[in-house]
Amino acid sequence: MKCATGKRLYYTKDTAQEALIEARIRFEYNTAISVYQCDDCGQWHLTSQGEMDPTLKALLEDGTIKKEKQAFQWNMKLR
Ligand SMILES: [Zn+2]
Repeated sequence: MKCATGKRLYYTKDTAQEALIEARIRFEYNTAISVYQCDDCGQWHLTSQGEMDPTLKALLEDGTIKKEKQAFQWNMKLR
């Protein structure tokens, strides 16, 4: 299935949120801050617009993202 927006789609809000958090950890310049349900395809996409997803916000604030990011970068170095 494909969407007219050309964005990658997720079938549930949960999987979209997971992808959002993972993108934050893995990609330094990722700008996605939230997820939304698409009017066009009815599935979920990531977006860099609007309000920040509360789950992502909480993980950023409590330092989880930072920690995971460091762990991820360490793994890359060791490989
Ligand atoms: Zn769509």
